[in-house]
Amino acid sequence: MIDVLVVGGGNAALCAALMARESGASVLMLESAPREWRGGNSMHVRNLRCMHDAPQDVLQDAYPEEEFWQDLLKVTGGATDEQLARLVIRASSTCRDWMRRHGVHFQPSLAGTLHLSRTNAFFMGGGKALVNAYYRSAQKLGVQVRYDSPVDALELEGDRFVAARAGGERIEARSCVLACGGFESNREWLREAWGQNERGEWPADNFLIRGTRFNQGVLLRHMIDAGADIIGDPSQSHCVAIDARAPLYDGGIVTRVDCVSLGVMLNRDARRFYDEGEDFWPKRYAIWGRLVAQQPGQIGYCIIDNKALGRFMPPVFPGVRADTLPELARALGLDETAFMRTLEDFNAACRPGTFDHTVLDDCATAGLAPPKTHWARPIDTPPFLGYALRPGITFTYLGLKTNEDAAVHVGGRPSGNLFVAGEMMAGNVLGQGYTAGVGMSIGTAFGRLAGSRAAAAALREGVHAAA
Ligand SMILES: Cc1cc2nc3c(=O)[nH]c(=O)nc-3n(C[C@H](O)[C@H](O)[C@H](O)COP(=O)(O)OP(=O)(O)OC[C@H]3O[C@@H](n4cnc5c(N)ncnc54)[C@H](O)[C@@H]3O)c2cc1C
Repeated sequence: MIDVLVVGGGNAALCAALMARESGASVLMLESAPREWRGGNSMHVRNLRCMHDAPQDVLQDAYPEEEFWQDLLKVTGGATDEQLARLVIRASSTCRDWMRRHGVHFQPSLAGTLHLSRTNAFFMGGGKALVNAYYRSAQKLGVQVRYDSPVDALELEGDRFVAARAGGERIEARSCVLACGGFESNREWLREAWGQNERGEWPADNFLIRGTRFNQGVLLRHMIDAGADIIGDPSQSHCVAIDARAPLYDGGIVTRVDCVSLGVMLNRDARRFYDEGEDFWPKRYAIWGRLVAQQPGQIGYCIIDNKALGRFMPPVFPGVRADTLPELARALGLDETAFMRTLEDFNAACRPGTFDHTVLDDCATAGLAPPKTHWARPIDTPPFLGYALRPGITFTYLGLKTNEDAAVHVGGRPSGNLFVAGEMMAGNVLGQGYTAGVGMSIGTAFGRLAGSRAAAAALREGVHAAA
């Protein structure tokens, strides 16, 4: 019988498989996706948030435990478990040497991401290179990997794992790590979680999924039905505004449109609905998906002029371009009269100031609702550009409750041989909100932990079986 069964094929699963194998256990990994789509959302990532007390290779200055914790506390509004959060934070300060040993390379942040140069270590070649390096290392160490192997259900005896069912097959193992993502790819479940709004719309029907199509939440649902303890709100997720032309799945990072703070955002009725200049974009980009989701038709339009060009990372799709504002309104399919009224009101409300996109400057509107509190400049210089945006779900936060041993809990009791890692438990640390790079910090910390604990449980049981 295999010692450790790992369900999933992204960062958390790979960290678990590698650690379990390094601890001397035999490991089988079951990945839903075919080989060419392996790696889940992890293939799209760029960086990992890391605590450090002094400058390190690609990380500047220091990012102490307390500051990381305060950042997490702020973004989650307290919806976090301090003990587990601190476990993640501390683990982020020591994991990179281990990652390097398994072939992951780091690079300093480049133009456009310099605000993260102190806190986040970037992966050379992005998540795809990280995932490929881990698979190569796993293969070298003798981890067995099976692709096209979605697990449909688990066989449990109380809180103990007995076997997994994949297709018609029953696979026994001494212990198991669940690392198979959230339910963000499951459109029916998103629909149920978001429900119907007061306009009779089902907002989730207009969501796009930024990552993999394989995180259908099959085992999350199965474990909920089996009585596992859960944590988090199903409607909470990391959700950003992305180009409406993005594909339904796997558009990745390049479909994000980062010019909202440089322009205005309109809804389908050509009305503004939120302060585009409330705070720096890295602190605000993750709220815009939800804001757009609350608008009629779940669509928003970001409008900029020539002055914004060159000040944001160019997205993969070019904006709709026009030489006049009425022409832009028509090209975007918006009501021209309403559009011109909103733009004229906005332009008239902009007070003179000293524009500086690197600070919370004094360019603000006066007498306008909602206000634009920073970087407000009239949109008056052709060419004008518009981007239609949709909510883009990154990952959901509903997950399995866990503890500092990464154990799955059933009826309040930690399982002795069933563990969980990654998105499937991220809600323990991230009840709401987000801070860049923490998804990988959580997955790496808990993946490694779950792998070690699963190996220890399996090897203990192996000794008992042999005795
Ligand atoms: C576009 C994008 C950019 C991102 N950028 C960053 C970033 O820079 N930094 C950061 O920290 N986070 C980032 N994230 C979030 C990050 O991807 C996740 O936090 C992290 O990768 C989760 O790892 P995971 O292993 O839990 O899930 P995943 O990587 O999604 O892996 C889940 C795996 O489980 C498999 N699976 C699902 N169901 C089953 C089943 N029933 N049986 C078998 N296998 C199954 C899937 O095929 C997949 O391989 C980004 C996400 C996206 C979409």
